[in-house]
Amino acid sequence: MPELSVRELLDLDRRHVWHPYGPMPGRQEPLVVESASGVRLRMADGSGELIDGMSSWWSAIHGYNHPVLNEAARGQLDRMSHVMFGGLTHEPAVQLAKRLVDMSPEGLEHVFLCDSGSVSVEVAVKMCLQHWRSLGRPGKQRLLTWRGGYHGDTWQPMSVCDPEGGMHELWQGVLQRQVFAEAPPAEFDEAYADRLRELIGRHADELAAVIVEPVVQGAGGMRFHSPEYLRVLREACDTHDVLLVLDEIATGFGRTGALFAADHAGVTPDVMCVGKALTGGYMTMAATLCTPRVADGISRGEVPVLAHGPTFMANPLAASVACASIDLLLAQDWRTEVKRIETGLRDGLAEAASVPGVREVRVLGAIGVVQLDHEVDLEAATAAAVREGVWLRPFRDLVYTMPPFVTGDEDVARIARAVRAAAREG
Ligand SMILES: *Cc1c(COP(=O)(O)O)cnc(C)c1O
Repeated sequence: MPELSVRELLDLDRRHVWHPYGPMPGRQEPLVVESASGVRLRMADGSGELIDGMSSWWSAIHGYNHPVLNEAARGQLDRMSHVMFGGLTHEPAVQLAKRLVDMSPEGLEHVFLCDSGSVSVEVAVKMCLQHWRSLGRPGKQRLLTWRGGYHGDTWQPMSVCDPEGGMHELWQGVLQRQVFAEAPPAEFDEAYADRLRELIGRHADELAAVIVEPVVQGAGGMRFHSPEYLRVLREACDTHDVLLVLDEIATGFGRTGALFAADHAGVTPDVMCVGKALTGGYMTMAATLCTPRVADGISRGEVPVLAHGPTFMANPLAASVACASIDLLLAQDWRTEVKRIETGLRDGLAEAASVPGVREVRVLGAIGVVQLDHEVDLEAATAAAVREGVWLRPFRDLVYTMPPFVTGDEDVARIARAVRAAAREG
């Protein structure tokens, strides 16, 4: 039995606990979750269950309380939950690295395991800067990205988030000043591609890397763009001696209909970040993969090591669950499942286009987005979704969903109904 009543818990929560992007004390009361199973969250106030339309921020692709993932965690818990990674290694880490190398775009061969997505972006940036430093080109230390992106909340990632949503104004003079291209148009546009090429060429001497989210820009605005731009970036980076970092933290592991979004374009980046769905939403873990060229560059330097090593690097519990989650994904026909959800979302969201206040409806893979022509009323939109029995977390002008891949057709239809209701009332 829980020790605290729901009321006591919420009072303490409000007084002591920060929530994402929240004030202190909190102003909006969160819902209390007691447990979760399959695609359903069970609420502690006795109000019943909500279908999860968010996969806990893209991560719980197999749903909650999955017997196979539970077993992987339990089995590893009985062996060891953690040991340090300096001077020691273990099977879960090695197995995970091998799986990531095997499934990721051809050419990525080395894996740095880290604690979270933001840290994996920090590591990616450090790799790129150090690569050039080692090769005697320390002037190459800026990054180029396009607007509308999101890469995490620590300092380096913040500097390449969209300047408008990313609090750049608040942190002027503190954040590294990076090079920004306009946001990529949805369809391929040769004139835009030319401007990208020109911008990369113009800044080549000071650029360590181009970093972008491939095909889907997530928390920066839920925008989709033509995979063709990835080929443009790859070519321009090769021409101008700039590294290419793809941040697949949101898009990885099947979400967009390809295992990795880079696969839509057949492009191999020099460095790639994965996270979120890596452990099936069980625990925090991310990884930075790189090519031998990047690793060689670092190893030839004055300081021939990658100077990074988090305390909980390669945590065996997280690595075991990640291996089980990847095996679970690859053992099923995930492509068909994602396609099925895509079809369900297309059907279910189509009529949202005629809701007053809706600017655009877009669907790709297991991602459905309704963009409004105004800032969403978070409280009203959340309440409307909850009345439909669904958990959604809209932001800015966006009501969106990326359900677990195991969401059945009826539940997908209900999620779509809830998105429509949230768009109408938010
Ligand atoms: C969520 C996200 C991150 C940050 O990951 P955290 O685990 O939240 O630190 C970075 N890049 C992208 C594309 C993301 O979606």
